[in-house]
Amino acid sequence: MSLFDSFAMVDWSGGNDTGPRPRKDAIWACVVRDGAVQALDYLRNRVVAEDWLRDLIDTELSAGRRLMLGFDFPFGYPAGFAKAITGTHDPLALWDWFEDQIEDSLTANNRFDLAGRINMSFGGKGPFWMNGLRRDIAGLPRTKQDYRNPFPDRRAVEHLAKGSFTCWQMAGAGAVGGQVMMGLPVLNRLRHNFAGKIAIWPFQPLDKPVAFVEIWPSLNLGAAPPDRIKDAWQVEQVALTLSRMTDQELDRQLNVSTSEEGWILGVAQDKPNISPPPLRNDCFALPAGVNWTPVDDALALLRDRLRPVTGAEVVPLAQAMGRVLAEDVVAQRSNPPQPNTAVDGYGFAGPATEGAQVMPLTEGRAAAGIPFDSTVPSGHALRILTGAALPEGVDTVILEEDVTVQDGHIAFHGPLKQGANTRRAGEDIAAGEVALTAGRKLTPADMALLSAVGISKVAVRKPLRVAVLSTGDELVEPGETAGVGQIYDANRPMLLSLIDRMGFVPVDLGRVADDRETLRARLDEAATQADVILTSGGASAGDEDHVSTLLREAGAMQEWRIALKPGRPLALGMWSGTPVFGLPGNPVAAKVCTLIFARPALCQMSGQGWAEPQGFEVPAAFEKRKKPGRREYLRARIREGRVEVFHSEGSGRISGLSWAEGLVEIEDGARHIQPGDLVRFIPYGSFGL
Ligand code: AMP
Ligand code: MG
Repeated sequence: MSLFDSFAMVDWSGGNDTGPRPRKDAIWACVVRDGAVQALDYLRNRVVAEDWLRDLIDTELSAGRRLMLGFDFPFGYPAGFAKAITGTHDPLALWDWFEDQIEDSLTANNRFDLAGRINMSFGGKGPFWMNGLRRDIAGLPRTKQDYRNPFPDRRAVEHLAKGSFTCWQMAGAGAVGGQVMMGLPVLNRLRHNFAGKIAIWPFQPLDKPVAFVEIWPSLNLGAAPPDRIKDAWQVEQVALTLSRMTDQELDRQLNVSTSEEGWILGVAQDKPNISPPPLRNDCFALPAGVNWTPVDDALALLRDRLRPVTGAEVVPLAQAMGRVLAEDVVAQRSNPPQPNTAVDGYGFAGPATEGAQVMPLTEGRAAAGIPFDSTVPSGHALRILTGAALPEGVDTVILEEDVTVQDGHIAFHGPLKQGANTRRAGEDIAAGEVALTAGRKLTPADMALLSAVGISKVAVRKPLRVAVLSTGDELVEPGETAGVGQIYDANRPMLLSLIDRMGFVPVDLGRVADDRETLRARLDEAATQADVILTSGGASAGDEDHVSTLLREAGAMQEWRIALKPGRPLALGMWSGTPVFGLPGNPVAAKVCTLIFARPALCQMSGQGWAEPQGFEVPAAFEKRKKPGRREYLRARIREGRVEVFHSEGSGRISGLSWAEGLVEIEDGARHIQPGDLVRFIPYGSFGL
């Protein structure tokens, strides 16, 4: 469920009636739903505005929609004022008090007099200032000369929102003092009228269908386009921006600590904008006392502990191919949007009975995009082409191939069922239904589906960045000369392209020799550049196995002894909060571990959820005896309906990886496979390759 369905933003005014013609410095309000403007209204005075607000809240409540209603004036005064006036720090007590004190009519109100009266109670030199009327008012100075304010000049939020006005200034261009006084009584009446339905942010928890929030459009908006009235344009922009925000982002913005002063939505609080790490430091811990962890247990553990680690952003649909949905997408329009014909033919009101039918043809026709906009009389037929909306009087279509047309009539043989050859509105998907769920990685078919149901923008996860690093003194870069005892780095190009094919963003961190300090520095670098780190080599417990040593030192390493061939050893750990998959150095083992362990884990962290590879049973073209106690993966491919395996199981045989088109998975127990026995084959394609 979305946090809010509708967003209405209001630019308030403390002044008097502004007349019937839309103009600036009046009250302007904009309602946006599903990212589109529903209404942009000029409200000439506060009486009109209050009626408008009451109607809006009523409408949204009866439609069952959640409404965010924003106003561009402070909901609270600087700390201490509420207590001095009402005896309590409760800002809403101040709302009640102002409602009681303010007199408002279309042509005059008592805001300056009230400001003067409040000032007099504090000695007559503040906190309010600037009398905007011609007559003098006792206690309300015209300038700040001799001004004395017993309260803070600004609310905490105003120190962070550059250029904002204080609520003590009662007049002058942009001043909000008058707006607050003339706004709070209106909001207070609404709050009591709709008691139990409205939450006032940030004073109350947002567990009601309507939330009042404080906004300040100038916070993020520049100048309005020359042909627009600034206030109108601003409320529209704020409403659109909020409505297009992901729930996660909106939730983050709404999550501020409460004080009697209130807050401006969108101003980041003092606290740095950080969130707890998505993964726990001990997320790779294995159950104590277990010697060899079965593959399924290891996978279940990863599935249970890993969480999505990427943020969200909104992108145009055209750029969303292959991205992961951050939220459910709800159809904005039905498909088909209206009943239409599935064939070229003749439409009439069905059903048609058994035997020869003759019907007069109505003048005209219906085609896709060109509707026939009158009614087809009963007993008559109309020429109709594939995709055309069914006109009034038509619910059944006969194929043109089955019809004789002559002398303005058609003839065909019945019977024909009512509704034949037509498509019902929404038979595919109805507006309001979830078209695709969060976690979906968008496919070309999804592009068609989302376009058809009226979606032009989607909230997607930021892509998962996966760093790849090779370790080993023996490694040299392809292209360099390799001396005795040296080998070319084969894992890194393979892993980088696996990551790319799986739809993540590969980050190449190069090679490091078996040197602990260099490796430490490179891991530090990786942790700042990527969401996940894949290393290969150095993962066992030997002298030169620095990946495992460093992870162990960092206190967050687990050597996973998984009952798996090929695959041992796998070191899993956290480096500065970033998960590290320490893959074995042997290329075959490195690839198998990436496909079987890293891939589902990466999918989970990217927001797609756990990804189980789909395999199927195929007769074996080979014989193999296997002892119990561990799972085995063989390089394999299908030829003539049977699955064959590579002639060698050696885990350094890279040519076998190229030869193969998938893996045969043999379960943990003992097995004697004879040619013709069914074995499980998982094509590389099932791993997203
Ligand atoms: P290690 O896990 O570091 O003990 O390495 C196991 C085996 O894999 C050794 O024979 C290494 O030379 C080999 N190996 C390690 N990294 C790579 C790599 N990037 N490319 C090819 N072979 C490697
Ligand atoms: Mg090594």
